[in-house]
Amino acid sequence: MQSRRLTVRRSPVHGRGVFVHAAVAGGDLLIDYLGEVIDWPVATRRYHERAARGHTFFFDLGDGRVIDGGTGGNEARWINHGCDPNCEAYVEDGAIVISARRDIAAGEELLLDYQLQVDRDTDDLDLYTCRCGSASCRSTMLAVGDQPPAANHPASGSGPRGSGSGADWTSIDST
Ligand SMILES: [Zn+2]
Repeated sequence: MQSRRLTVRRSPVHGRGVFVHAAVAGGDLLIDYLGEVIDWPVATRRYHERAARGHTFFFDLGDGRVIDGGTGGNEARWINHGCDPNCEAYVEDGAIVISARRDIAAGEELLLDYQLQVDRDTDDLDLYTCRCGSASCRSTMLAVGDQPPAANHPASGSGPRGSGSGADWTSIDST
């Protein structure tokens, strides 16, 4: 039902993106982020298997589990990163809900700030370069720079990592 308001098509930002057909009011629910619920060890293995093919879609539930939008997922997995996002995501009853952060005009692309946490020693950081074009673009999808030190959650180990404080998004589309 919700997804009828949305369409997936080629994005000027990157690859495919998700757009609204009609104007949306700030605070409106847009779509749930669907997919298979897995734990981090499984997500890390899939990340390394799929990264070579260019697509992984993980959303951290913040409780040790991850939603894999690449398995049984919906349009939400195509929402691109933006440094000045018009959407926000939060965890509700073990599900990821994406809502409008502000009023969104008809035809606008939905953007989320991924705030990615990755292993900076082993991951190819070029994969996470941001080209969203907003005035506040920080040139990366990673959670860096504009946060106070206390808010940083350095990644450890290998593969994608969430901060453990709510919804973090991992989506890599290097094709
Ligand atoms: Zn940006």
